[in-house]
Amino acid sequence: MAIVSFNKTVLHNLFSKPKTRKVEKEYPEGTRGHVENDMDLCILCGLCSIKCPTHAITVDKAEKTWSIRPMSCIQCRCCVDNCPKKSLSMGLRFQEPGSEKVTKTFKQSEKAIAAQEALMKAAKERAAAAAAAKAAQAQAQAQGNAPAPAPTAPAQAPKQEAPAENKE
Ligand code: SF4
Ligand code: SF4
Repeated sequence: MAIVSFNKTVLHNLFSKPKTRKVEKEYPEGTRGHVENDMDLCILCGLCSIKCPTHAITVDKAEKTWSIRPMSCIQCRCCVDNCPKKSLSMGLRFQEPGSEKVTKTFKQSEKAIAAQEALMKAAKERAAAAAAAKAAQAQAQAQGNAPAPAPTAPAQAPKQEAPAENKE
């Protein structure tokens, strides 16, 4: 009797619809899956690293790399909101589970390096121009403070003769 009941259960399970739902492939808007960085925009300022509450981000300016430990990220979005270049965003896909704490490292792109160098060059030129203008202003002020030549005595105005009275 037990075998008949078992067979019925097996047959029922074989031909009935699954009781569980499929994993949704589409993520709702605003999902915080993982952090992505557009290395064409990143200037390696390090602000995201400072703001990250779990110290999941590391910036190496000498090596020109940006690294993240996805297992340490709590998807708070703090780095994304504080990035001055808007190079960070929240990707939808969730971090895959794993047995090891991996570190993902990305190199700053050549485009970003060139843009950053151009910015630094422009900033240096502006600073040099400002310093030169300041020096010129200081020199002009120093010349302005030198003792001025003694003023000459004003010429006396000729005395005006009294108007002649009308004689009738
Ligand atoms: S991702 Fe943004 S905040 Fe982080 S180092 Fe790059 S530019 Fe700076
Ligand atoms: S989302 Fe939050 S925890 Fe994850 S890297 Fe950014 S600041 Fe750190």
